Amino acid sequence: PATQPLTQRLALPLRVPLRGEHPYGAPQLDVAHLLNTNENPYSPPGEVIAAITDRVAQVAATLNRYPDRDFHELRHALAAYLSSDTGVDVAADNIWAANGSNEVMLHILQAFGGPGRTALAFAPTYAMYREYARNTATNYQEIPRNADFTIGLEDARAAIRTHQPSVIFLTSPNNPTGTAMPLSDVEAIAQEAQQLRIDGAPALVVVDEAYAEFRRTGTPSATELLSVYPHVIVTRTMSKAFALAGARVGYLAAHPDIVDALRIVRLPYHLSSVTQAVALAALDTADLLQEQVDTIRKNRDRLVDWLRTCTTQGRPLTVADSDSNFIFFGLFEDRDALWARLLHHGVLVRQSGPAGWLRVTIGTDSDIDAFTTALTKELDQ
Ligand code: PMP
Repeated sequence: PATQPLTQRLALPLRVPLRGEHPYGAPQLDVAHLLNTNENPYSPPGEVIAAITDRVAQVAATLNRYPDRDFHELRHALAAYLSSDTGVDVAADNIWAANGSNEVMLHILQAFGGPGRTALAFAPTYAMYREYARNTATNYQEIPRNADFTIGLEDARAAIRTHQPSVIFLTSPNNPTGTAMPLSDVEAIAQEAQQLRIDGAPALVVVDEAYAEFRRTGTPSATELLSVYPHVIVTRTMSKAFALAGARVGYLAAHPDIVDALRIVRLPYHLSSVTQAVALAALDTADLLQEQVDTIRKNRDRLVDWLRTCTTQGRPLTVADSDSNFIFFGLFEDRDALWARLLHHGVLVRQSGPAGWLRVTIGTDSDIDAFTTALTKELDQ
């Protein structure tokens, strides 16, 4: 056959739901102040870097072998950490982990979603839920939140009865709003989910707590519900509070039967020896990271207060309460124009959620100065 240039567009048997879709991801721009992906702005402290380097050097000599497929040591360490963060006793067989909580949630839908099944979430919320559903051929339904971003319980109950989801995503603190859910709301939804019969079993409630370590004093974690509602799953990540987004480690706590089901769908050896070593080193030195988390929480509260003193076109800004390492604020007539003007000052924030709102991640002092200076200038105009 005649040769063809590899640049020619190809007809592909792409799955129909993927046609016209674009890869998900915020712009990765070379900008001084990266406040658009809710990363921890601080590199890991020197002691943590030393611990990581030591652990990785040890496993380097064993890289001819596959990793511990069930990552026993890591599961023990994650259980100990989560127990100490929440005060709830969690054991190693309650823990599952993967390459980011993204992959943990993909595993959940691979095991519990799929053709003929539905996943339910409450908008505005994390945009990836829709993509995990699409990629696993799971139907996806989003129910709108109230204007203050709380979930209307009557709406939630009705939607659960109507759509009969096998998986319900709650996000607390939620992205992009930063708002956390009262435990009583999580509990009400867990009770409703328990009444469903999806091929004979209750629905699962996934509480995505990616930002939980940044929660304000008094804001609870849904881990408290695990022993009462065995169909609740709490997911966490090392990407945010542990300053380890580049290592890709997320995990969940749930009933051991849920963990066993996830083991069926994971790829063998999905967590590399290097990943396990890095995560173990960071968990060994978790205390050292607490200071960064405390600083981010303080800076967050201060920035929320400051934003609430700002006005746009004579009206005060609306600023959502934040239990996370970012703040959702508005309402701007043309948020895209403001986003572009902030970028012009070297400050990259995110257009996210309903029209008129922007989201800013809590950066270092210098990032926050750049953001407040740029925003003051732009709001004054
Ligand atoms: N859940 C929420 C609500 C998030 O905002 C993110 C990351 N932005 C994730 C999960 C996934 O994080 P990772 O895969 O890095 O653990």
